[in-house]
Amino acid sequence: MPRNPRYDILFEPVRIGPKVAKNRFFQVPHASGMTNAAPHVRAAFRGMKAEGGWGVVCTGAASIDPSSDDSPFPCATIWDAADIRSHALMTDAVHSHGALAGIELWHGGAAAMNRTTRLPSQSPSGVPWMATHVPFMSSARPRIMDAEDIRELIRWHGEAAKRAEQAGFDILYVYAGMGYLPYQFLMSDYNHRTDAYGGTVRNRVRLVQELIDAVREATHGRCAVALRISMQELSTRPSEVAPTEGHEVIALLKDAPDLFDVKMDYSATDCAASRFTPEGSHEPFVNYVRALTDKPVVGVGRFTSPDTMVSMVKRGVLDFIGGARPSIADPFLPNKIDEGREEDIRECIGCNICISSWHDGVWVRCTQNPTAGEEWRRGWHPEKLPRDGAGRVLVVGGGPAGLEAAVRLGQRGFEVSLADKSDQFGGRLVWETKLPGLRTWNRVAEYRLGQLRKMANVTLFPASNLSAQDVADFGADHIVVATGARWLKRLCGSNELPASEINEPGVYTPDDLALGARPTGPVVVFDFDNYYLGSAIAESLAEQGLAVHYVTTAGAASAWSFMTNEQPLIYQALARRGISCRTLQLVTAFNGESVRLAQIFTGEICEIAAKSLVIVGQRQGGSQLYAELKELRSETIVAKSINLTGDANSPGAIAHAVWQGHRTAREIGLRGDEIRIARDAPFAPRDFADSVSAS
Ligand code: ADP
Ligand code: SF4
Repeated sequence: MPRNPRYDILFEPVRIGPKVAKNRFFQVPHASGMTNAAPHVRAAFRGMKAEGGWGVVCTGAASIDPSSDDSPFPCATIWDAADIRSHALMTDAVHSHGALAGIELWHGGAAAMNRTTRLPSQSPSGVPWMATHVPFMSSARPRIMDAEDIRELIRWHGEAAKRAEQAGFDILYVYAGMGYLPYQFLMSDYNHRTDAYGGTVRNRVRLVQELIDAVREATHGRCAVALRISMQELSTRPSEVAPTEGHEVIALLKDAPDLFDVKMDYSATDCAASRFTPEGSHEPFVNYVRALTDKPVVGVGRFTSPDTMVSMVKRGVLDFIGGARPSIADPFLPNKIDEGREEDIRECIGCNICISSWHDGVWVRCTQNPTAGEEWRRGWHPEKLPRDGAGRVLVVGGGPAGLEAAVRLGQRGFEVSLADKSDQFGGRLVWETKLPGLRTWNRVAEYRLGQLRKMANVTLFPASNLSAQDVADFGADHIVVATGARWLKRLCGSNELPASEINEPGVYTPDDLALGARPTGPVVVFDFDNYYLGSAIAESLAEQGLAVHYVTTAGAASAWSFMTNEQPLIYQALARRGISCRTLQLVTAFNGESVRLAQIFTGEICEIAAKSLVIVGQRQGGSQLYAELKELRSETIVAKSINLTGDANSPGAIAHAVWQGHRTAREIGLRGDEIRIARDAPFAPRDFADSVSAS
């Protein structure tokens, strides 16, 4: 299909100093968990986005000096010749598809705890990075930089810029955002200096200006120099000469870089979860930058709608459509718009599993795109699969795992039948995405159903509750069982021990609520799953007018959602809805009138009046259907393989189910021993090994 002319503007080339980007799609630097220890993984991951049409593709932050070490987070470096070789793989991959390659030169200052290098952190005035509530606290405090330290910092930027140019980068970033060192100089909260680098805004901007100059001089104007700057706080600070300090800073720097990359100040606002924040949420904080400079401006906002992108350009907010998460979820987003295939875009759902991977210290994972991070290790391409499927496959269960498996099996050319006992496909998503804030997550089902409905070799069977005999009678060559997991009515004990089931009337699990059970209030939601569902259910019950108490064994509400940047906003949502929150508590008993709690460390008992108890605790996989099929296999089933996948195999987040479904679909028919029931394949040699010398 030809491109919709409405989107032509997105494909205009744009000059960035000495370089020209072929279009307005700009993959801004973002964490990928891929350090220099995984150069081929990184090159394949970034190169895929260039293949998918992004005009600029940046690698993530790269430390310029050992005095900036981000461990335990995965941290790339640009310190020496080995680092140059490592990054060169990425720039080659990006250039091979006609895109520009960028690198974010990074010094974390007080925010870098230097846990590995053990060098002291540096800061303008000795003010520590305020990690007040996060698990990444450190007892180390930064030292105050003197004039010589500042000269060194500027020199390091220049030296790193030379190495970056040698590695083949076209765009070199000075990074004054997100609490890192140049940002600390910009902000009066961190910068109490009385020399030429502190005090007035003009003085606080001086370091950033000098860093930009150093990078430009080091590369003799051959590379474009970008400034990445956080505008959220600056945009709220009054200025004596401009509407805000943000305006004043941009006006002072308006001619300094070749490109402004504007963003928010905190991970939870910059990479905001869709549960609480819509597409384009940065705009009020960055929309004035474009008017203050002639240089192009890039910004993000989880843009997946081409119409929103066009609007950002036409309204003069941005010149480049920045993408981090949308480029992970769909590396081919630009090409799909270019080819008039907008309906094929695999839209980011804003769940932030990707950022959780960085917090976990591993290569990026994505709910929507199971191939992210697997491009080199497993050779997975997000769009292309070998057309090698022959025969019929029956997929039982149309949740995230079954849907993904069916799409990929269909792409491989199998004749696919997808059955679900429900009249709606989507599995757990059908109910969960009706909970407050989770509607966007339904894109996981919508995208896949959209693809399946276009495939002539796929047939959908809703409202089909299949027994083992039904499956046997179907006579498929391969069977995929993706029937999901169930929530247990089990409590939990102290010291990591599970406790018994509790089956009193008035006790519910999420499965009961999904089937339509209506608890009466007051309700205790007891959460030891610790991700999104407990708090989302509490919100939903409060929305229905019930008095709700949220109780958890963890030290914080939805404790794991810290990993996905959702936790601060979950607290705000609980407070807004009048939901009380008790942490570090075990539920030990429920009698239909009250819930008994015990403090997890001291054992101190208290009671809360409650007519209902909702337990969001453990999920159990396994499948009766699968067990029966195994029994029947030798007698009546002719299938070459029976595959258990998704939550039925191993319960987890939606991302885990999608990945399992994808892998199952890739591997069906390719195993040597097809007669045996398919189980996990052994790891391939590439699973963990990568280095500059790896071929
Ligand atoms: P996952 O996350 O692994 O995809 P879900 O729980 O989201 O798992 O989805 C599992 C789906 O399987 C549900 O939609 C459920 O209706 C369906 N299902 C379970 N058992 C059967 C069965 N015997 N026949 C058809 N569909 C089934
Ligand atoms: Fe988007 Fe979620 Fe994928 Fe991140 S993990 S890119 S938020 S869909």
